[in-house]
Amino acid sequence: MIVDRTKQILNENNAFAKKNFGQNFLISKSILEKIVSEANLSKDDYVIEIGPGLGSLTEFLCINSSKVLCYEIDEKMIEILGKTLKEYENKKIIFGDFLKQDVKKDIEEYFGADAKVKVIANLPYYITTPIMFKLLEIDNVTEEIFMVQKEMGDRFTGVVNTKDYNALSVYVKYYTETKKAFLVGRNNFFPAPNVDSVILHSFMKKKDYGLKNEANFLKFIRNAFVQRRKTFANNISSAYGLNKQYIETILVNLSYEKTIRSESLSLDEFVSIYLKIFEQ
Ligand code: SAH
Repeated sequence: MIVDRTKQILNENNAFAKKNFGQNFLISKSILEKIVSEANLSKDDYVIEIGPGLGSLTEFLCINSSKVLCYEIDEKMIEILGKTLKEYENKKIIFGDFLKQDVKKDIEEYFGADAKVKVIANLPYYITTPIMFKLLEIDNVTEEIFMVQKEMGDRFTGVVNTKDYNALSVYVKYYTETKKAFLVGRNNFFPAPNVDSVILHSFMKKKDYGLKNEANFLKFIRNAFVQRRKTFANNISSAYGLNKQYIETILVNLSYEKTIRSESLSLDEFVSIYLKIFEQ
């Protein structure tokens, strides 16, 4: 098991955990098993892993799925993976920044054009959101199981009328059903980071909200949360240079208080208000 030999593998290869690539390697076998069980893998499953590192999670994925496609940004890790995963033939490792790859094309080549793919990743928190957005555009991806720092997980899964509910929570609800699967304490990593983490499990949603311009809607959500202490009408009127009374009238006509704040509006409510202001 690679996971039992993390420090030894680093030493033998003159490697160390690089901060700039967010390298915190999982050293707990039971956490790896929990991730695999959360992903509900079977021998028919196609998996993408972003950031395999030394390959501890990859090893479990190779054993429990049909084929695994990995993306790793650190050349040193590529060299190490060549050794640690030597015995597994059902994997392909691509060197480079995941955000810059033509993932759709890679999926077609390795799994087939219509393949359904589960994405699994333990990644630095600062690229989680762009990666999530990149994955949303690839219709082969059906599920994502990914590690984020705990506070980030609270925002991803934030519900209406709580302090964690913000633009990101609304985006995530727009595209996915996302739940917190389980917590992962900082001591399960080498080196241990300063924060605890959580595994999130997202199922891609195919719901059509009937919007003509999705990008504009997402911008509208961002604008609605620009200043949390302001009312929804204040945020939207200043973002778009619209008359505040006009926004308030729309709210009142839809049976809301004119002083309502964005943190009290659900995704469906944002959609109906947006449609009234911009698409009708
Ligand atoms: N999955 C392994 C390693 C986690 S550390 C484990 O759980 O032990 C995060 C890994 O992501 C590192 O190997 C790092 O080099 C890689 N990584 C960081 N940014 C990346 C990017 N943009 N694209 C691909 N891999 C990346």
